[in-house]
Amino acid sequence: MKKYKVIIDRRKCIACAICVSLVPDVFSLATDGQIQSNGFIEKNGLLVGEIEESQLLAVQQAAQACTESVIKIEAVK
Ligand code: SF4
Repeated sequence: MKKYKVIIDRRKCIACAICVSLVPDVFSLATDGQIQSNGFIEKNGLLVGEIEESQLLAVQQAAQACTESVIKIEAVK
């Protein structure tokens, strides 16, 4: 099954939780109030992880709904 890389700039996340409400099985809010995702790794303010193809549509909708446009999705080759 094809996988997709998700890159989130946590430094620009305003903790509105729109993404959490749209894709609660992928996104949640950490104790600092900003976005987190199980299995994702944070480095230099960027949260990076992979999602399955079955999660792509929902995560794309969350990325589009994010008012700060901090959620990016790339196909994994
Ligand atoms: S929708 Fe965007 S700004 Fe809002 S919590 Fe999610 S990543 Fe942060």
